[in-house]
Amino acid sequence: MRCPHCEVAELVSDNRNVPYTFQGKTTTIPAVSGKFCPACGEAVFEAAESIRLSAAMLALNENPDSPSTARAARA
Ligand SMILES: [Zn+2]
Repeated sequence: MRCPHCEVAELVSDNRNVPYTFQGKTTTIPAVSGKFCPACGEAVFEAAESIRLSAAMLALNENPDSPSTARAARA
């Protein structure tokens, strides 16, 4: 599958830690499986992973300072 963003490279299936920044705080959401573009860095996630990512981001948005939230995001 060619990258929908840059249309230069083929996307590569991988499992990566995805950084997420909210209000100046950056958290890493670990081990997200998706397809990544080696040329521009665009990432395409499957539906299940999108849901998991959204949930993790939402939890961080609601309570970015909570240690338990940070722990859950790293787990
Ligand atoms: Zn690309």
